[in-house]
Amino acid sequence: MLKDQVAIITGASRGIGKEIARQLAEQGMKLVLAGSSEEVHQTAEELKKTGFENIISIQSDVSREKDVQNLVDKTLAAFGQIDLLVNNAGVGFFKLTEEVSLDEWKKVFEVNVQGVFLGAKAVLPHMKKRKSGNIITISSDVGRYTIPNGAAYTATKYAVQGFSGSLAQEVREFGIRVGTINPGMVDTYFAGSTQGIPEKEEWLKVEDIAKAVVYMASAPQYMVVDEIILHPLVQNYPIA
Ligand code: NAP
Repeated sequence: MLKDQVAIITGASRGIGKEIARQLAEQGMKLVLAGSSEEVHQTAEELKKTGFENIISIQSDVSREKDVQNLVDKTLAAFGQIDLLVNNAGVGFFKLTEEVSLDEWKKVFEVNVQGVFLGAKAVLPHMKKRKSGNIITISSDVGRYTIPNGAAYTATKYAVQGFSGSLAQEVREFGIRVGTINPGMVDTYFAGSTQGIPEKEEWLKVEDIAKAVVYMASAPQYMVVDEIILHPLVQNYPIA
């Protein structure tokens, strides 16, 4: 079903985004990988070496409108269409609110919220014209409930939930589906961590989140999967 469709994945250099790219490539999708660092090119090369074709990488910072527009323009030039945008790029930190600088506050909003807005804004004219498309955002469980020492990050993910919910209603009549995937603790490089360390053995794996993306993106056109929330069993969290 996803074969030969075209996806843009932001934050694909490493962590969850890299595995999303691998699993979507397995589905036969044509991919454009985006990341703000040069590492995104290495990731694309790695995937190509394992036998996947039709993968390009574009260094782009999701918080910059010009970068995001360039990403969309180059995708259309290379592959002619965009079926799926995965807004995965994100940053975060966990500290007391009075220790958060205004620059840190601005940065986390620029990447996590502005990045999602700019990505959606850039693909929508094309998706509306085609009367189809899928926008999946990797939000977080903290877009659904609050945690201590993470007020700035939590605020960005609540913003993303509000944005995605409202957008979903706005574009439904154009055949465009919008959903969020809200994981709890995932073993990645997030917030300066290292992927694969023994302390995180029982956390969610990047593969679990990528599988959720494949499921959401593969839903038949008459169906929208609005949200997937997933947690490791070891994580204690409130249930609504
Ligand atoms: P990660 O391992 O740190 O990866 C973050 C990715 O985002 C990297 O590929 C990075 O690549 C990219 N990125 C950062 N700033 C960017 C920017 N300005 N423009 C474009 N790309 C940018 O973290 P992760 O856990 O995979 O995070 C992916 C998403 O999952 C985030 O939205 C995060 O909030 C969400 N999430 C994570 C967890 C968790 O426990 N890990 C839980 C829930 C939700 P470059 O360095 O090349 O830019």
